[in-house]
Amino acid sequence: MSAESQVEPTAPQVIGSISELRQRLTEARLQASAATSRRAGDTRRSPRVVLVPTMGALHAGHLSLVARAQELGDIVVVSIFVNPLQFGAGEDLDSYPRTLQADVAALAPLGVPFVFAPTALEMYPNGPTATRVTAGDAGTLYEGAARPGHFDGMLTVVAKLFNIVGCDAAVFGQKDAQQVFLVRRMVADLNLPVEIEVAPTVRESTGLALSSRNQYLTEAEKLGAGAISAGLRAAEAAAPNARAAVAAAHGIIDTQPLVKLEYLVVVHPQSFLPVDDGYRGAARMLVAAYVGTTRLIDNVPLDLNSPPARVS
Ligand code: AMP
Repeated sequence: MSAESQVEPTAPQVIGSISELRQRLTEARLQASAATSRRAGDTRRSPRVVLVPTMGALHAGHLSLVARAQELGDIVVVSIFVNPLQFGAGEDLDSYPRTLQADVAALAPLGVPFVFAPTALEMYPNGPTATRVTAGDAGTLYEGAARPGHFDGMLTVVAKLFNIVGCDAAVFGQKDAQQVFLVRRMVADLNLPVEIEVAPTVRESTGLALSSRNQYLTEAEKLGAGAISAGLRAAEAAAPNARAAVAAAHGIIDTQPLVKLEYLVVVHPQSFLPVDDGYRGAARMLVAAYVGTTRLIDNVPLDLNSPPARVS
């Protein structure tokens, strides 16, 4: 092992101020650009800044996004901000886990240079913004139906973060499939110069998708929550018949007494509208359910193409 590879990664700089972050990123870009041109002679490439937006309480799912960001670019920024704008009245804004110290400790071994952890006052100095990004009709379905205004708040903060960081790319998790769909559409609709990368859902060995909200679950609820991903796996196995896939998922989820299904729907990947029974092609099954008082979401891709005709 070379001496260079033994160097311990330094802890991230935790920055709460927008102007300071911009200053540090300008410096980091200059440094990275000088280092690149030293290594590569005259073939210059501007360093890429990649953002991983999170609300903290980091788990292995978030860390997988960071690993992807490191593959995609030169300077990684992890934002940690529990965005009040995307929480409705009666939701868990106040009780949402805030674990900044542990989050920074989890990022340190990965060598992430910057954590942007602003206060609500820094992000919204004049209170909730008068100007908002609206998610449109697709933002009123599924998660948006259960959480009115959630996606407008989410898109607004994501747009602000893109502008604050000036990132070239941003990494999101497939776990929040409707979020990914809406962020991609915002980027296309508003011509934002940010490449959107999506990383696969990280799961526990039981199949349960990792989520910061899993820490609200009791042991019994956690076990019961396994029915959600088991239902989705059964649906995948029952494809390409959409009706059979839905029935297979219900067959498992509905029989778990601790899980109260909120919606289970098969959507078209390009429109996010429900597909009809005759639909053939790629689709995605989305599910939301309460396990006790905790609301969980998950999804899987479904291949609803007809199986190849049998050659006799
Ligand atoms: P959150 O902190 O819940 O807002 O999530 C921040 C980012 O992490 C989002 O892009 C999520 O989709 C992603 N994420 C959350 N859970 C997982 C998971 N289990 N696997 C992969 N990505 C995840």
